[in-house]
Order: sequence, then structure tokens, then C-alpha cells
Amino acid sequence: MPRPGFPRSIMDFQTRFATEEDCRNYLFDCRWPEGFVCPGCGGRSAGQATRRHLWICTACKLQTSVTAGTVMHATRTPLRTWFWAAYLVATYHPGISAKQLQRQLDLARYETAWLILHKLRRAMVAPERGLLHEEVEVDEFFLGGLEEGLKGGRQRGKKALVGVAVEVRGRGSGRLRLAVLPDAKSASLAAFVTDTTAAGAVVHTDGWPAYRRIAKLGYEHRPLVARTAAPGEQMLPRAHRAVSNLKAWMHGTHRGVSAEHLAVYLDEFVFRHNRRRTPMAAFQTLLGLGAHQQPATYDQITRSAA
Ligand SMILES: [Zn+2]
Repeated sequence: MPRPGFPRSIMDFQTRFATEEDCRNYLFDCRWPEGFVCPGCGGRSAGQATRRHLWICTACKLQTSVTAGTVMHATRTPLRTWFWAAYLVATYHPGISAKQLQRQLDLARYETAWLILHKLRRAMVAPERGLLHEEVEVDEFFLGGLEEGLKGGRQRGKKALVGVAVEVRGRGSGRLRLAVLPDAKSASLAAFVTDTTAAGAVVHTDGWPAYRRIAKLGYEHRPLVARTAAPGEQMLPRAHRAVSNLKAWMHGTHRGVSAEHLAVYLDEFVFRHNRRRTPMAAFQTLLGLGAHQQPATYDQITRSAA
């Protein structure tokens, strides 16, 4: 039996996940698509202790949590809230702020919405490890309007240098990568290319001399200069499209992103871009149902991201 499919509409979602038990059953089906198998003794029969999302093996009494390894592990927030949050984050294309999530899910506390959103965002990083290949456009650009940290007062207008790499797929775009760069020097740009793109790929850049080094790193470098482009033809069109979409999104959804959170927002944008046609994969990845990710604790999040 394959994994359960993704609801096709918001009505379908609402019907399918109407109760806590519906959500628990879905987690059960994701974990044990062939039916319960005890990780201890291999037994196929289990009873349920619903309050803690536990299944108890009839033969050896071992308890297995159906939320272990997911973002919902040890949570006190209802599973329905998590499911709705992941659904909204996965399918709402402009992205969603903690304030919007709090309102949509009718959460009493802003902190709960913020924490859920940050835990879901953590899942946006891990699956992005595969390297881009075949043919890739690479560019770098300044992203402005960032805020400094809150300590010592707000300071608007700080800019960050961001690298963009996007696969050429016919006339369209394939997968995307974004990263904050320390500077536009040769070593930084070369590191960005080797971190994002598989050796052997054709790499298109503009004529900035600092990109020359990548030809020595196993890439087929094709720098473009204005005079080789046909009149009216835009250089690196896929990279430029991704950047303008990113800027619109940052401005529209996340006004006043702090500089130290920027990497997290870049990850979210990349995640959305790369899964824009596969909302089911996005939903499951966000909840930690795909890979066996370590659940993040509140402590880890506040220490690294707040
Ligand atoms: Zn057992």
C-alpha cells in the first residue's frame, strides 16, 4: 500500500483531518504503510494509547510514538494545528507570517504561531542538499531593507550580498539555490558554485572577472558579456526572474526581516520554488514525515534563530 495521498482541496483537507484521531491515523499510515510492525520484536499487533500518540506492541509491550522523528514530537499543541499550519505553509504561495498564522488558526498566543512556523522552516533546509547539474545560471545581487538585531536599536537599510544559482530547463527554470555571501570576491563565488552545483555542469555568469576561477574547478564556464547578448535579450533571465520574485516575496510577506534571520527566509523561498508543483511532498517534508529528521527543541530554535 502506498503512502496516503495529499488532499486536493481545502475542503478535502478539512474533511480528512477533522479530528485528532484522523491526524493520528494519518501519521500511523505514513509510518507503517503495510500495517503496524513493532520495532522491537516485529509483532504485527498493537493497542493505542491516544493521549501520547503511542502504540503499544501486544506481544512485547514496547511503546512506539507515532510522532517520533517528526516536527510534532513531544508537542502539546494539537496535531490538527500542526497539520493546518503545514498545509498553509505548503500551499499558500506568498508564504505566511507568524501573525497571519496566529489569526488563521485562532491561536491564543503569538509565541505558539512563531514557534510552529520556525519548526516547520527548519524542515525546509535539510532536503536541499542535492547539487544542481547540467546547465546552471549563477549570479549575485544585493538584498536591501534588512533590519539589524533589536539590541542597540533598529537600523534600517542594511544590505546583504546573496548568491543565486538556478538550473536551466528548456525555456523554464529547474531547482534553485540561494545563499548569503561574505563578498563578491573570487574565493566566495567559487565556494558558492562548488556548494550548489555539480562539477561538469555548464555555468552561465555575467562577465564579472571574479567568476573566472570556476573554469579551473571542473565547470564549463560561459561568461556572458553585454555585447554577446542579442538586442533586447536579457542576460541570465532565470536568475533574474528568481531574484525579482524573491524581492517581491520578501517585501510582501516578511517586511523588516532581520539580517540574522535572512538565511532562514532564503531557505523558505528556495523550498517553495523547488516544490511549487509538488504540494504533497512539501506538506510531508514540513511535518518531518519524509526523512527521519531529529525534532528540534524550543531551546535549539531560540538559541540559533532568535
Ligand atoms: Zn513488540
